[in-house]
Amino acid sequence: MSDQCIFCKIVRGEIPADIVFKDDDCVVFRDINPAAPIHLLVVPKNHVVSLQDVGPADGEWLGRMMALIPKIASDNGCDPGPQGGFRVVINSGAHGGQEVGHLHFHIMGGPRPWAGRAAPNA
Ligand code: 5GP
Ligand code: ZN
Repeated sequence: MSDQCIFCKIVRGEIPADIVFKDDDCVVFRDINPAAPIHLLVVPKNHVVSLQDVGPADGEWLGRMMALIPKIASDNGCDPGPQGGFRVVINSGAHGGQEVGHLHFHIMGGPRPWAGRAAPNA
């Protein structure tokens, strides 16, 4: 946990978010500035700054979080199958376009074209 981190504050319930799922590993909530009709953020409860700070020892919890994505996407309105689907983005570090320094997966979906940003910082 990090005192000033905005995503840690959401994990702790100190600031509001539209939370759609939580378990022992992560919290999932709607992005405040969506880049697609459906735009969710999967955030580990532990404060990990970015994917650059992850290694082989993190495979289990990271894999569990990744494996949740299809069900979270479909439960929140992403259409199934090859005609539907979703985009997953992990921005990492300044060159990766990361703005919030707490690891997160973006899940973006819904019918195209998507208004506004096609992907964060793209
Ligand atoms: P990054 O550029 O770090 O990959 O993406 C950060 C994302 O977090 C952005 O898409 C931004 O809209 C979202 N975001 C930033 N602050 C908040 C917040 O306080 N609440 C929510 N729900 N999303 C946020
Ligand atoms: Zn944090």
